[in-house]
Amino acid sequence: MGESTSRRRGRFAPTPSGSLHLGNARTALLAWLQMRAAGGEILLRIEDIDKPRSRAEWAEEIVCDLEWLGLAFDEGPEEGGAYGPYVQSERDELYQAALDRLEAGSWLYPCYCSRADLAGIASAPHGLGSEGPVYPGTCRGLTLEERRAKEAVKAPSLRFRVPDRERWIEDGLLGLEHFGPGAGGDFVVRRADGIIAYQLAVVVDDAAMKITDVLRGMDLLDSTPWQLGLFEALGETSPAYAHVPLLYGPDGSRLSKRHGAVGISSMRQGGTKPEEVVGCLAFWSGLMDRPEPVRASDLIEGFQMEKIPKEPVQLEEYLLRRLSGQ
Ligand code: GLU
Repeated sequence: MGESTSRRRGRFAPTPSGSLHLGNARTALLAWLQMRAAGGEILLRIEDIDKPRSRAEWAEEIVCDLEWLGLAFDEGPEEGGAYGPYVQSERDELYQAALDRLEAGSWLYPCYCSRADLAGIASAPHGLGSEGPVYPGTCRGLTLEERRAKEAVKAPSLRFRVPDRERWIEDGLLGLEHFGPGAGGDFVVRRADGIIAYQLAVVVDDAAMKITDVLRGMDLLDSTPWQLGLFEALGETSPAYAHVPLLYGPDGSRLSKRHGAVGISSMRQGGTKPEEVVGCLAFWSGLMDRPEPVRASDLIEGFQMEKIPKEPVQLEEYLLRRLSGQ
């Protein structure tokens, strides 16, 4: 064990709630390159904890797309490995055990607020972060009696008490990031319908899978202080984080299906070469001067985190057209 546990370990953790698109593929490529360049290990984890949103077909398609792009993983649903299963829907026992530990440490409290209550908060000025409304702590201090009365009417969700202190996070790409006290407010770790929230599952898995490095999209930066709070409450070591600014369509809006064939599987099925896709992803990530075809493995040697732009990248219409075979 000794040697393998001292190696750096990264992961790519897609949610199979749709097809892999250029944005996710770029995150996968960069997380993969970061570990390959460091001589570390990279694993694939399917984050299908939110069952109503996830589909097995999409998970399968994502696995095919990644393979087609030339990204081979050391561990994953297909490869297996010592830290499996690599599919969140098969890891419920671990999440329940973590909930018990948090409960025992008085980190959690039941919350009976309805969607309508929270929508009220959302419309209040300054109440909106990128993760939605900041929870004002309505149910934080309920007495046992008040809880019983509410319980009779509605099943509660469970919220994590966010420590009331500020945080500075050293992001591997963005540099020092500041978060005010209690950043984002107390957050849900188990929904009222019993589904474990992403925030908890991702922390339990990153800890259990001995992840040392997380490279992911900038859209998850705001959830980082929450996740660090969970690592601390669970007595686990947190990984180092690097958040990559997102890709935008030629019209300046966030990349989506509206921008034509941004889906990797449609490129794969439409006859585009994987090297062309990887070349564009590398170009948009500052790893190549021109969008020329290249294999993922040929990018390992020259990979440097500092080359990745710290600003969002706007994709060129002509490249999107080229990738979609037009
Ligand atoms: N499953 C998350 C997503 O697809 C990513 C989780 C993470 O990288 O922390 O958005």
